[in-house]
Amino acid sequence: MRVVVGRLAGAQIQLRAPGAKDGTALAAPTNKNCTVKLFTVDPTMHSRPTQAVILAGGRGTRLAPLTDTLPKALIPFHGKPFLGHVVDMLREQGFERVLLLLGYMADAMIDHFGDGSAYGVEISYRVTDADDLTAYRVKEAADQLDERFLLLYCDNYWPMQFDRMWRAYVDSGAPAQITVYANADGYTRDSVIVGEDGFVTVFDRGRTTPGLSGVEISYAILDKAAVLPLLPDRQELFEEAVYPALTARGELHAYWSEHRYYSVGGHERLPLTEAFFARSPTIILDRDGVLNVRPPRAEYVCRPEELRWLPGAREALAAFNRAGWRVLVVSNQPGVARGRMTLDDLAAVHRRLCGEAEAAGGRIDRIYFCPHGWDEGCACRKPAPGMLFQAQRDHHLDLTRTKFLGDDERDGQAADAAGCPFGLVTESEPLLAHAERLLGLHAAGRTAVAG
Ligand SMILES: [Mg+2]
Ligand SMILES: [Zn+2]
Repeated sequence: MRVVVGRLAGAQIQLRAPGAKDGTALAAPTNKNCTVKLFTVDPTMHSRPTQAVILAGGRGTRLAPLTDTLPKALIPFHGKPFLGHVVDMLREQGFERVLLLLGYMADAMIDHFGDGSAYGVEISYRVTDADDLTAYRVKEAADQLDERFLLLYCDNYWPMQFDRMWRAYVDSGAPAQITVYANADGYTRDSVIVGEDGFVTVFDRGRTTPGLSGVEISYAILDKAAVLPLLPDRQELFEEAVYPALTARGELHAYWSEHRYYSVGGHERLPLTEAFFARSPTIILDRDGVLNVRPPRAEYVCRPEELRWLPGAREALAAFNRAGWRVLVVSNQPGVARGRMTLDDLAAVHRRLCGEAEAAGGRIDRIYFCPHGWDEGCACRKPAPGMLFQAQRDHHLDLTRTKFLGDDERDGQAADAAGCPFGLVTESEPLLAHAERLLGLHAAGRTAVAG
């Protein structure tokens, strides 16, 4: 039973879901007006899925001639097939068994993945014709499906945090939940409309309905009993057979993500996917209170001469640089909106910051700043995670593996909203101490702390 308990206009939803002990916000689009539903579903009634089912049977004709000799899932990135990266993530996220639904060049897939022991999971297979459509492949494998499973297309890698998805699924009370990439950057074409309550109201794979916003990328949690009766005897795509029908019944929940996915769907994607899997080590830093002395409340560093470095901060930047890490800065600078400085003033401050970092052997690769006031409702001012997602897209980061260091509660909230691990910088735990720990350094004259 679903009960609508309230409607919050334009507010950040921070209601705790039943069973959500850490207070993580519900995974609804938080930048829209939201209807909040609380459900009576007891999360202990469900056990989380441990089976992932991957549709990997297509010919991948968009990637010809690469796919003339190789199924697209086996295209290598940094020494590992694309789908190998996916299976690694599934294992890290608690999946024990993987079912591969194969067709085109199934032998090459089975040769590579075998029984899964090289990946630390149990892998099984169902092989049908290369030209079968995906609804048919799932239907054919019905006897191998768990009561509840995770369904993926083999050509999308999205750094999932399954605990969060699972919590959203349980809280929704729905039998099916898809993952939707927000696509605010026009990375691809939209295919859905998600309502205020987080449920899909339009699913249009043809992508022609006006007002579409967001694209379905699989990473779907599905109840077998709800899905199987929708699979037709004719050849059809799974998403066309299942998702519009569930949408019409109000039973398709969406897990909303602003984190870009990476794909082997077409040639134009391959360089981005290559950059993503390089996993170049990156640290994201707040500015005031991390690199330089934080000005008193409602005051700002408005001129270069007002910038005062914190002890050890330049040494930390030099250490990151020596270790080959990329350094990004994300900073709220509402002094611009309040008329205390111009964008030129801020640029001059940042020229000094970057110049002195370089003089000390460090390097700041990019500074993201929010010039807006607290009342402007922008997406970039922390605790909103907009700057972190911008950095994600610009540098093809995996935010779930990229640490953000800040000195303020709002930094921690932004990190949590973006799925970033967070470290708090304090006087007793300054940037240099974080850097030494992250880089595995023990500076001379410092006492190494055990553990
Ligand atoms: Mg700060
Ligand atoms: Zn802003």
